[in-house]
Amino acid sequence: MNGLMMDRPLLISSLLTHAEQQHAEREIVSRRVEGDVHRYTYGDMGRRARQLANALAARGIAQGQRVATLAWNGYRHMELYYAVSGSGAVLHTINPRLHADQVAWIADHAEDQILFFDLTFLPLVEAIASRVSTIKAFVAMTDRAHMPATTTLAGLLCYEDLLAAQTDRFDWPDLDERSASSLCYTSGTTGNPKGVLYSHRSTLLHAYAAALPDALNYSSHDAVLPVVPMFHVNAWGIPYIAAMVGAKLVFPGPWLDGQSLYELFEAEGVTVSAGVPTVWQGLLTHVQSHGLRFGSMRRTIIGGSACPPAMIEAFQQHDVQVIHAWGMTETSPLGSVSRLTPRQAALDAPQRQALQAKQGRAVFGVEMKIVDAAGQRLPHDGRTPGELMVRGPWIASGYFRGEGAGPLVDGWFPTGDVATIDADGFMQITDRSKDVIKSGGEWIGSIDLENIAMAHPAVAMAACIGVRHPKWDERPLLVVAKKPGRALSRDELLAFFEGRVAKWWTPDDVVFVDQIPLGGTGKMQKNLLRDAYRDHLLTPA
Ligand code: ADP
Repeated sequence: MNGLMMDRPLLISSLLTHAEQQHAEREIVSRRVEGDVHRYTYGDMGRRARQLANALAARGIAQGQRVATLAWNGYRHMELYYAVSGSGAVLHTINPRLHADQVAWIADHAEDQILFFDLTFLPLVEAIASRVSTIKAFVAMTDRAHMPATTTLAGLLCYEDLLAAQTDRFDWPDLDERSASSLCYTSGTTGNPKGVLYSHRSTLLHAYAAALPDALNYSSHDAVLPVVPMFHVNAWGIPYIAAMVGAKLVFPGPWLDGQSLYELFEAEGVTVSAGVPTVWQGLLTHVQSHGLRFGSMRRTIIGGSACPPAMIEAFQQHDVQVIHAWGMTETSPLGSVSRLTPRQAALDAPQRQALQAKQGRAVFGVEMKIVDAAGQRLPHDGRTPGELMVRGPWIASGYFRGEGAGPLVDGWFPTGDVATIDADGFMQITDRSKDVIKSGGEWIGSIDLENIAMAHPAVAMAACIGVRHPKWDERPLLVVAKKPGRALSRDELLAFFEGRVAKWWTPDDVVFVDQIPLGGTGKMQKNLLRDAYRDHLLTPA
């Protein structure tokens, strides 16, 4: 027997309609590529999104077709989020930090029809224009006064002109909630990038779950500044969640250095932010070196790679709570959040900090298990590592135009992460499977070693990789970038590991570099380091 409840679809356009009715006056503030600060409201955004939806229809964009963006976090990108998906087309956010060859490959693979870009990316668009086969029009996300001179992009369109030509009357179509809403390619550190295709339903369910108090805890009282880019996993869902709860949105545009972020936090009363650990380094350095305090910021969500305990502590000293979360492009991205249970909250400080450094418990809607190489479930004893498998309504079941059987194993998505899970359900990532260091047949978790190195006051960033060893197959090598002006020797750093980790886990050697290479989403590119130091000589112990 069916229940007698309405079968209303979960649609992205309903978030916008809700925001227009319930939080029309709530502000959206953006630092623009042009350098100035733009401010308007959800009410204004709704009107312009409908003009944009009309403009897309006028250019013949049909439901299901892909509309690409190469853009920073800003209000025009937000309008595209709603106008494209709301009208039934698919928003394809491309990561502009990828190489031009990859951008062209992705645009062709996605069969993008039209490309919207921020002025910063004009050279990139010019470089790919003649190599992409399906894009029929390019749109510069600016007004007439700022239109760039270009000879390469014949017929370049102006975003504000497109909108000005349309009315703001548009009826969002009643779509099937399972229809595709947006598309994001994984960074493809191995092989070609793979397209993760979100649906309206998955996006809304993810937004509900992520907003909950014991998940990321967003509310109408918040001013949210997503540092995490809108070109990567939908800025962790923030453009949707903020509209759902009525949070003020503050977009940093391309200005992501410590000083610019700090100024925007303070000027706009930002209460919560979100980003990968590497972006916070610049902000913390700025705040610490100038003796500043955060006036309004109370918490920050950190994920994308492991958040070093030293960073959690540094934020705590500024009364900013770190919410450590785990996820991936394929998981929309929220999978787990490190939130203490009431019992854990009563533990002493070192125990609480140890828990916070873990990736935490699955949010409702995501199931997790760990398995061995044969796919057998492993115990949740907090010690046994295995491959993390997940499933749920916002986890990818396949890749866009993917070949072969697809990624699922018995209905579960294999994450490629190695993790332990304890009896309370607390999950801890010990490594990505391709980063695991295998020494004498035993696994050494590179993240633990990096976290210890990062706790040293002279270390700015540390990556731990396995290098060949004549006796143990592989041993850990620590690659370290020092903080500016700080002195640190190999032996001093290795002595720092004493008592902090089992002796056989201690790295065999340290290499100092000016900079650790970072990929398009701000993560350390350990594959490049492995290539560079593959033959680094270690003395047999
Ligand atoms: P890619 O870098 O391949 O594009 P994603 O950006 O989707 O992929 O990153 C997902 C991966 O990032 C996860 O599989 C995991 O290895 C890593 N990751 C994400 N959050 C965390 C975290 N809190 N701690 C450790 N690793 C994390």
